[in-house]
Amino acid sequence: MSDIILLKQGEIVLKGLNRRSFEIKLMSNVRRRLKPFGNFRVYTVQSTVYVEPEDDNCDMDGAFEAVKTIFGVASVSRAAACDKDKDAIFETAKEYLRDEMLAARSFKVESKRSDKRFPMTSIQLSQYVGGLLAEEFPHIKVDVHNPELVVNLEVRDYAAYVHGPNIKGAGGMPVGANGRVVSLLSGGIDSPVSTYLAAKRGVQIIPVHFFSFPYTSQQAKEKVLELAQILTKYCGRLMVEIVPFTHIQEEIRDKCPEEYFTVIMRRFMMRISQRIADMNGCAAMITGENLGQVASQTMEAMMATEACARVPVLRPLICFDKKEIVEIARKIGTFETSILPYEDCCTVFTPKHPRTKPRLEDVEKAEEPLDIDGLVEEAVQNIERITLN
Ligand code: ATP
Ligand code: MG
Repeated sequence: MSDIILLKQGEIVLKGLNRRSFEIKLMSNVRRRLKPFGNFRVYTVQSTVYVEPEDDNCDMDGAFEAVKTIFGVASVSRAAACDKDKDAIFETAKEYLRDEMLAARSFKVESKRSDKRFPMTSIQLSQYVGGLLAEEFPHIKVDVHNPELVVNLEVRDYAAYVHGPNIKGAGGMPVGANGRVVSLLSGGIDSPVSTYLAAKRGVQIIPVHFFSFPYTSQQAKEKVLELAQILTKYCGRLMVEIVPFTHIQEEIRDKCPEEYFTVIMRRFMMRISQRIADMNGCAAMITGENLGQVASQTMEAMMATEACARVPVLRPLICFDKKEIVEIARKIGTFETSILPYEDCCTVFTPKHPRTKPRLEDVEKAEEPLDIDGLVEEAVQNIERITLN
């Protein structure tokens, strides 16, 4: 007899007709995430996803940690299994919830009974266990209307369960439920956070990194892959597209006016990301841009940049303060990797005096000497794809 894990669905419960498809997505994400921890049976009953170990080899502690990062889950809890006997249920509740009972001032017991052969009704079981708990913990009073603590009991086919306390889940919506996007992932602090936030809203991520070897080092690429690896904890499996960017940057350096280097380079990022979006059925792009942070993130510069994209360019961090972004980066575990000192392609050939308010027609004129289509095609043909699980 073993414990189980319970996941309360988040926003999915507000969905109408397509709710079932969100649930199916969530369950398949849960199954995939739990693979390293053993064989589990995963199913949904009344907006709760049940995770039951199928044998004794399951790592329940590992699984419990893992489910806390799955988007689409409002809260998680464990439930202790015991014999389907009223006294065994009481003993289990007494031990399993001792700390919670000691901390609360009022409680009630709620029971569910899916095994109809169990000799007591739900109400009888609640009254029986509630009475004994009240004797055992005399400081806490029964309050059926507004209790601080609800002791949940369930009598199911193979066992009875006492639910533990609810812990906050990852929130958001199941990854994949809201389509796919290309996410431009640099090695900085911002883009891992924007990627995380997009995934949290149920979006499946195709990360793209522009790599300018040897101007940026092999370590810079390893760093991005490490960031992506950390993000798999939230996003699931990721296929990172590494785009060779050296030739494009050299061409810009050699043929364009220096003050437009950055905006022209970023326009190439958009064109190539658009191609990757088309190949992967993505309906948008995500960047870590943040209004006013650097010269390329003024409204004018962003307008000149995104003129090269057909799909919308979404910027989850546009109005965040740096401090708020850093807080999330720390929480999700990307910060320490992001601050490793390897340079990004954006810092190669940076102009001394970049145009902060470039006009689109001036930018278009500045890039006229370039074989734009040829350069984009060459980069797309030489993409390296790395799968992270
Ligand atoms: P970050 O901390 O994410 O690097 P940043 O503040 O350094 O952001 P920029 O370097 O101007 O800002 O980049 C803005 C956005 O452009 C990044 O958040 C990212 O989405 C994208 N980007 C920049 N460099 C790259 C790159 N080498 N590969 C992929 N995307 C990039
Ligand atoms: Mg950067």
